Amino acid sequence: MTRWIRHKSPYLSWQVTEGIQAIFTTRQGGVSFSPFDTLNISFNVGDLPSAVMENRRRVLADIDHDLSQLVMAEQVHHNQVAWVSPHDAGAGAMASRTALPGLDGLLTHSDRVVLGMGFADCVPIFIAVPQDHVVGLLHAGWRGTVRGVQRQAIELLKEEGIDLHQIHIGIGPSIGPCCYEVDERVANEFRAQMGGDAPLVATRVGHYLLDLWEANRQQLVELGIPDANIDISRWCTACHGDQFFSYRRDHGRTGRMGGFICMSK
Ligand SMILES: [Zn+2]
Repeated sequence: MTRWIRHKSPYLSWQVTEGIQAIFTTRQGGVSFSPFDTLNISFNVGDLPSAVMENRRRVLADIDHDLSQLVMAEQVHHNQVAWVSPHDAGAGAMASRTALPGLDGLLTHSDRVVLGMGFADCVPIFIAVPQDHVVGLLHAGWRGTVRGVQRQAIELLKEEGIDLHQIHIGIGPSIGPCCYEVDERVANEFRAQMGGDAPLVATRVGHYLLDLWEANRQQLVELGIPDANIDISRWCTACHGDQFFSYRRDHGRTGRMGGFICMSK
């Protein structure tokens, strides 16, 4: 079953429950020029800041929020996750405001902030705990996945007394097992972490297709999240050049889609 819906609008949404908005933007519907065409949400890729601002403004307006409510993480391919509050609102929202440093995961109890991050192949992991009024967003590329950003998030939720059965996970568009070839070094990191369950398929000598969706799903299930609560979109960013930026496919020179999650007031 999937609750990931591709709308006519330029976004996908994860329809987990009423009162929680979780969207993943495509590259459509913005104002940026090539190679950031058109809806790039990152200030850090060489795009015009004015274009990025307009793109972000449009997305936030479409989910009935304001840029001043946005909280963004620096995204350093590690595993640090933190609780954020309205006190953090605006972090990373504009070119002049730095994102929260050293973090690849954000959690909040507040309906006055919108959690946001940029993606172009790395896995966006959306978290919703409707019963406890909590939402979260994680950035899990291969490093974050193997370093356990998902584990850090679940630990913080457990410390808060949250029942693991109430946690819902949405794994959004990212590079799929069809396109994500890695070398022996990366494969070995996954074998060290996951043993024989590491989702690797050999392609040629010293190279493997890695399934980051499955790696994250398995680790979340192992942590105690019910498999039925994990919803994978199965959109591959590298396969769909008309819909998504892809760091791998575009050789690093490309824009970023945005993952955004918030609770309605
Ligand atoms: Zn693919």
